[in-house]
Amino acid sequence: MMLEPRDLIVPAPTPTGETERFWQGCRDGELLLQHCSTCERWVFYPRATCPHCWSDALEWRVASGAGVVRSFTIVHKPGHPGWAAAAPYTVAVIDLAEGPRMLTALVGIAPADVRIGARVVVRFQTVGEFTLPFFAPAAPAAPAAPAAPTAPAQA
Ligand SMILES: [Zn+2]
Repeated sequence: MMLEPRDLIVPAPTPTGETERFWQGCRDGELLLQHCSTCERWVFYPRATCPHCWSDALEWRVASGAGVVRSFTIVHKPGHPGWAAAAPYTVAVIDLAEGPRMLTALVGIAPADVRIGARVVVRFQTVGEFTLPFFAPAAPAAPAAPAAPTAPAQA
């Protein structure tokens, strides 16, 4: 069964002063991460100071939304009854292209088909009053074009 979160009635996130911009980005269809302008590293989850250099020079930037499945588990008995209708579904740790890791759930793929190392992309879905950043399989890469014939090298 593939996770279809739209009709679920589950507890909503609780935005704080530090996370409100992130949730607004989800509503706008943008995966926002903080970027430290002191050490030039990406930061997730949202916070007031950079965990790498303790600078408070964090700014919001739109991330690519691309990532790779680092690890996953298949949930058969959700911790909250609101998710029961979706089970079994896949909860995954995604290595984002920018570097940070994000815990999320996968949509658009059956749990038995999930593989570590699979390329995924963010897919925003509305659940209740919130838009949440789920991830789905990335479109397969286009096959490489056949190499153009080349002229033989001149001796
Ligand atoms: Zn920093």
